[in-house]
Amino acid sequence: MQLVEAGTGRVVGTVDGARAHATAHTGAIYVHRGETWQVERLDLDDHVAEIRRADVDYTTTARDVADIVIVEERDHQRWASCRVSFGSVDVSNQVTSYLRRRTRTGEVIDETLLDLPVRTLRTSAVWWTVPDAVLEAAGLDRVDLPGAAHAAEHCSIGLLPLFATCDRWDIGGVSTARHPDTGVLTVFVHDGHPGGAGFAERGYATAQEWLTATRAAIASCECVSGCPSCIQSPKCGNGNDPLDKGGAVLLLDALLAGAPPRR
Ligand SMILES: [Zn+2]
Ligand SMILES: [Zn+2]
Repeated sequence: MQLVEAGTGRVVGTVDGARAHATAHTGAIYVHRGETWQVERLDLDDHVAEIRRADVDYTTTARDVADIVIVEERDHQRWASCRVSFGSVDVSNQVTSYLRRRTRTGEVIDETLLDLPVRTLRTSAVWWTVPDAVLEAAGLDRVDLPGAAHAAEHCSIGLLPLFATCDRWDIGGVSTARHPDTGVLTVFVHDGHPGGAGFAERGYATAQEWLTATRAAIASCECVSGCPSCIQSPKCGNGNDPLDKGGAVLLLDALLAGAPPRR
């Protein structure tokens, strides 16, 4: 996707196709090499976004709905009655709206609906499941599960670059208190590129270390209910809601309790 200056046609930059809907939708504020631009028009057919220099006191964040379907589990590890898996998935994602936020305070000004098509990506993912009995034994309330899973997902995505050579923008995640393909609570972390780029596979290979580090990062963070250093994500399509910091620690403890003894 090319970013082209409106009026002159000058190519200012490019955006990765996977990120175009979220970052180059009509109305998006785009910061490129320290300069602020606004997208006037996104042309999906021509792969061009027309942008214009803008002097604004707000930022934009896209909101999306994501869905994930397991195509094939290629490998798995049993951690007691929990399971960690690696395989291929279809991720579908639709950017549905964007929020304008005041630059200084982060306060939401308004939300604008967008009409963008669903994008589907077949790629690789690592995912883990925790059955209901384990969740109950861990003292997790059903209402807290979405926030706990979502918080664990975010933090694990933030930490994967320590285990795989990637950027958090190269990977995505989906978490759900009950996934139709597994029947139980499931957290997915997937590669952002078609076919996969090896990051999820690396996460699977180092799952115990990676998720232990995730649990530690959340538990040791001094914030009260979550911050950008632990469970908040700058690229969350749900506006970082819901997130449950304490629930995420309980959830990861329950998962890791069944992991094999560490050497
Ligand atoms: Zn924190
Ligand atoms: Zn999120």
